[in-house]
Amino acid sequence: MVQRVFMILPSNFNHIIKSILIFVLFMFIFYSNITAQKTIELTPMGYVIELYNSEDKKFWSPPFITDKVLVSSPFGWRSSGYHPGIDLALRRGEPILSVFDGIIKTSAYNAGYGNYIVITHDNGLETLYAHLDARVKAGSRVRAGQLIALSGNTGWSTGAHLHFEIYYENNLLNPEWFFDFKGKITIRSQFIRLPMQVVMPNGKIDRW
Ligand SMILES: [Zn+2]
Repeated sequence: MVQRVFMILPSNFNHIIKSILIFVLFMFIFYSNITAQKTIELTPMGYVIELYNSEDKKFWSPPFITDKVLVSSPFGWRSSGYHPGIDLALRRGEPILSVFDGIIKTSAYNAGYGNYIVITHDNGLETLYAHLDARVKAGSRVRAGQLIALSGNTGWSTGAHLHFEIYYENNLLNPEWFFDFKGKITIRSQFIRLPMQVVMPNGKIDRW
């Protein structure tokens, strides 16, 4: 009997050690991949994105300069269907600015958006600016606060306004999570945590 116990113990022990080693190796590979992305971190609660870092000279900017902004249509469901961005009323010809550092991925025209721009930002987000008048060309690198367009009333629009969208890995996000549009436009925090159930890399958009 005693002999049997001794026979069992070492083999179980071996199995536990093996499991721990495999687990540690997995965690190492997993976290080295995550840290390679630098600004995005996976936590048990979801993704944490560092939006800006003044010490590293990575700044943020409102999409246009104003002391008072009027949200003419919020993000989400409305009577006419799903509204994928936020509408900010402003006059025609106002300077439109990149909200973070990045590269202009798209600068084009379509019937709905009119003249629009999409920027891929260094922090992993993408932003879209629509119904523009003049716009800069795609491919150029921009800093936060850099002029990218002038506001307008092009496309499916009834009055000059900026239609503004934010994406993370093709998942549509509510711009009001990031910015406070009441009064002067401010950013809510340096970091944002996106819950797992909302952000599904390469998955479908969870529209809420
Ligand atoms: Zn809109």
